[in-house]
Amino acid sequence: MLFHSTRGQDSNKTFEEVLMQGLASDGGLFMPDHWPQVDIEELKHLDSFVDVAKHIVPLFTESSFSKDEVLELLDDTWHDFSEQTFAPIKKLDDSKLVLELFHGPTAAFKDFGLQLAAAFFNKSLVRQNKTAIVLGATSGDTGSAAIDACKRFDSIKSFILLPDGNMSEVQRRQMTTVDSSNVFTLRVNGNFDDCQNIVKEAFNERSFLKKDQFLLAVNSINWVRIIGQICYYFYASLKISKFAEPVNFSVPTGNFGNVFACYSAHKMGMPLGKILVAVNNNNILHRFFSNNDYSRSEVSETISPSMDISIASNFERLIYDFYAERDAEVCDKYYSSFPNNAISLSEDMWIKSKELFLSYCVDDISTIDAMKTIYESHQYLIDPHTAVASEAVNKLKEELKGSTAILATAHPGKFPQVIKDANLTLHDIPENLSIIFDREERSYNFPASKELIFNFIVKNNL
Ligand SMILES: *Cc1c(COP(=O)(O)O)cnc(C)c1O
Repeated sequence: MLFHSTRGQDSNKTFEEVLMQGLASDGGLFMPDHWPQVDIEELKHLDSFVDVAKHIVPLFTESSFSKDEVLELLDDTWHDFSEQTFAPIKKLDDSKLVLELFHGPTAAFKDFGLQLAAAFFNKSLVRQNKTAIVLGATSGDTGSAAIDACKRFDSIKSFILLPDGNMSEVQRRQMTTVDSSNVFTLRVNGNFDDCQNIVKEAFNERSFLKKDQFLLAVNSINWVRIIGQICYYFYASLKISKFAEPVNFSVPTGNFGNVFACYSAHKMGMPLGKILVAVNNNNILHRFFSNNDYSRSEVSETISPSMDISIASNFERLIYDFYAERDAEVCDKYYSSFPNNAISLSEDMWIKSKELFLSYCVDDISTIDAMKTIYESHQYLIDPHTAVASEAVNKLKEELKGSTAILATAHPGKFPQVIKDANLTLHDIPENLSIIFDREERSYNFPASKELIFNFIVKNNL
């Protein structure tokens, strides 16, 4: 199994190359050359999340790692979860369930993808006897999950740029209270786009790297993160229906990585009802699915900040695989002038959406209402991102058959201010979220200057 770009100019890449490279050289995103098929009959007899992962992950990695190597790696990949089962499922009523993906060390689902990424980064670095710098900009949960996943590996130094702006105090403290000599949190006097631009230039210039050192991207386009997420869709389907009936999944989404993982699982053989694409007021995806209008607009700040995006980077993979049916020329045609020109597919392409996708856009007021309603009817507190997905199910229920799993992507304890504003009460805060209030915050302040930031990296890249 090799990989190629959605835009056709970067192909025949191994898993390891794709892992270390991140974005394809033509600006596209890497895709597997075909969809490997999972033996559902075999999966039916499994029980644990890691056992399910052992049937999924090796299907993508054989070009670089032996199956035994990968099975061994998976025994030690997901760590510091507060639940033995990693992803417990809570039943709300006969047809509605919640897949809790927030029991990892940073209390958001991103631990699943980034712990797998870090484990493979380290494995590759150790066998090549090289080191790496992880450089990322974050406005939400990616930074903390990346830092946490990489901090245990001496081969990796992490530099994370935090913009001023819409981030909860918990999210910020998760990044500024890490006491690890290979982690550096830089607070940048600028917005997310300023930080993102510095990261982009860093990937072009690479001047601060040592010889033979990798620069790694941890943003959501790295294929390995998608693999980590595919695993929990199979696991959830196993637990909910033993694959006997298709399950619907409601996914609160921003960059479309989590939705694309669901779609991928389906392409690999997982029975699937509908995917609900649930967004906040940053509704580019809803405009596409409801109106064939994929056009960039300004980011607006919401109470579900990890979904505040102007474009959904992983959506390109769906255009390529689902709509363009893997014709890279078609995909390239749409993306070569995007975002200057909006993407609007031909009617016969776009109409396919109805087979698999439903979408809904939930504003802040309805998000708060959904949190209250779920609390009142089930004594169950959900975070604002999960509430967006829950409200989408509520609004679209007429169109759903069978069971629907709502993806709970963050622990409510990450957003105490929103909980308070909703007049709700947080009862048990996980220890990993409470201890950060006792720790001193440590970060380095910078203006949005790439020179100063590159110099800082050089100085600390020993
Ligand atoms: C990142 C994030 C999302 C959005 O995930 P995508 O894969 O970018 O769609 C949703 N909820 C939470 C809590 C997140 O951290």
